[in-house]
Amino acid sequence: MNAPAEAPIGFLNLPQQQSLISNEIRQRVDAVMKHCRFVMGPEVTELEGRLASYSGAAQCVGVSSGTDAIQIVLMAEGIGAGDAVFLPAFTYTATAEVPLVLGATPVFVDVDPATFQIDPASLRRRIADVRKAGKLRPRAVIGVDLFGQPAPWPELRAIAAEEKLFLMADCAQAFGATLSGRRLGREAVATTLSFFPSKPLGAYGDAGGILTDDPERAELYRSLRTHGEGKTRYEVLRTGMNARLDTIQAAILLAKLDVFDMELERRRAIADAYDAGIAGRVIPPARVAHSHGSWAIYSVLTKGQEDRAALQHKLKSHGVASAIYYPLPLHQQPAYVAAHDGAALPVAEDLSRRIMALPLHAELSDHDVGRVVAAVRA
Ligand SMILES: *Cc1c(COP(=O)(O)O)cnc(C)c1O
Repeated sequence: MNAPAEAPIGFLNLPQQQSLISNEIRQRVDAVMKHCRFVMGPEVTELEGRLASYSGAAQCVGVSSGTDAIQIVLMAEGIGAGDAVFLPAFTYTATAEVPLVLGATPVFVDVDPATFQIDPASLRRRIADVRKAGKLRPRAVIGVDLFGQPAPWPELRAIAAEEKLFLMADCAQAFGATLSGRRLGREAVATTLSFFPSKPLGAYGDAGGILTDDPERAELYRSLRTHGEGKTRYEVLRTGMNARLDTIQAAILLAKLDVFDMELERRRAIADAYDAGIAGRVIPPARVAHSHGSWAIYSVLTKGQEDRAALQHKLKSHGVASAIYYPLPLHQQPAYVAAHDGAALPVAEDLSRRIMALPLHAELSDHDVGRVVAAVRA
C-alpha cells in the first residue's frame, strides 16, 4: 500500500522555524548591519550574559563552534602529548578529534545499552587499563550529554575526584536539558556548547560557547579564543586560536533564545508521543533518571542490522526520513584506530548496528508525529 502523497518529513525544518521569528531575526541582524561591529560586537556580550543566566553558570564565553570550545577548554588545562583523555566511544567525532589535535590520546569508554550514555563502570576499568599500561598520564574525562540527555554526572564527578582528573562536559547536544531540576551547564568544571544549525539551539552557521563557574578559567578561555591575547590586543601571553563567536550568529541566537523554551517543550512532547507510539515495534531510548532531555536526537533500537535496514526502507517509502547516529563507534573509525589500545567496547559496537534516529524537531505537527508513528508500526 502506498503512503498518501504528503510532504516528506525531514530532520529539520529551518524555513518553518524561521517564519515564526523572522521579524525578530531581521531586526537583530539589521542592528548588526548598522553598527558594523562584526567581530566581538555588543550582541556577543549580550548573548553570553543570556546563556550564563539561562544555565545558571557564572560565566559564558562565546566561541566559534562546539569543537573549538572543547579545544580551548583542553588547551587551558595544558593537555597534550602523553596525556590520556577519557571519552565515550559512542559520540560525535569532534569529542575524540580535539585531544588528538592537541597531541593527547583519546581513551575510548563503553556506554550504557539503554540510555546510550558513558558507562561509569567502563570508565573505571579504562582508567585502570591506562594506569596499568603505564604509557600515558590520565588527565581528563569528557562526559558527553548524548542525544540531549544528561550523562551520569554524579558518578562522573565522583570518579574524576577520586582519580584526580579534570572533568568537562561536552553539552553540544543538550543545551536546555535538566538534571535533578537544574539546567545543564554546571555539572563539570567547564561545559561546552554547540550552536550548529541542527542542535536544539541552532545558529545559522557555526557557533559555540563555554560555560564555567570559575572566573580564572573564563579569563583564560577569553584569551585563548583571541590568539592568547593579554590586557591589550598586542600583548600575546600564550599560544591561542582565532575562535571568536561571530556577531551575526550571536544576533540570530538572541532571537532564537526567545522561543527556545517553547521549542523545548514541543520537543519533549514529541519524544513522549514517540515513546508511547513505537513501543513494541522498536525499543525507545531509556530516560535518564531525574532528567528532562532536549532531544537533539531521538534514537530507537531495532533488533539488528537487517531489521534496521528494512525499517529505514519502509520509513522512506512513507516519506519519513531516518538517520544513523552513529554507524561506527569512534574506536573503529579509520582516523582513530591507531590511537585505540584494542580494548573491546561491545555495547558501543552493538548500538552502532541497531540504532536509528527518527525526525524530531519543534516544527513537527501532531499529524506529522502520527505519520512517523504509523510508518514505524506499519
Ligand atoms: C555537534 C557536536 C560537537 C561539535 O560541535 P560543532 O559546533 O559542530 O563544532 C561536539 N560534540 C558533540 C557531541 C556534538 O554533537
